[in-house]
Amino acid sequence: MDEPPVTVSPRVCVRCTALTAIPVVVSEVHQNSGPGFSVYACPDCAAVLPPTPDVFTLLPAPLAQAAR
Ligand SMILES: [Zn+2]
Repeated sequence: MDEPPVTVSPRVCVRCTALTAIPVVVSEVHQNSGPGFSVYACPDCAAVLPPTPDVFTLLPAPLAQAAR
């Protein structure tokens, strides 16, 4: 049985603001209330964006250890 084709909705690139038909997820935003959202970039911009830091590396060490 053939798999159905994967369809991807066009998204706006977070860096160059161009509409891209090949969006790449570069970050996920988590919120305290309501659903979070994904941040997209075009393939060219995704290659040069810095990696998203781990939230635990942003906290002072005692807080990061308590949260794990
Ligand atoms: Zn872009």
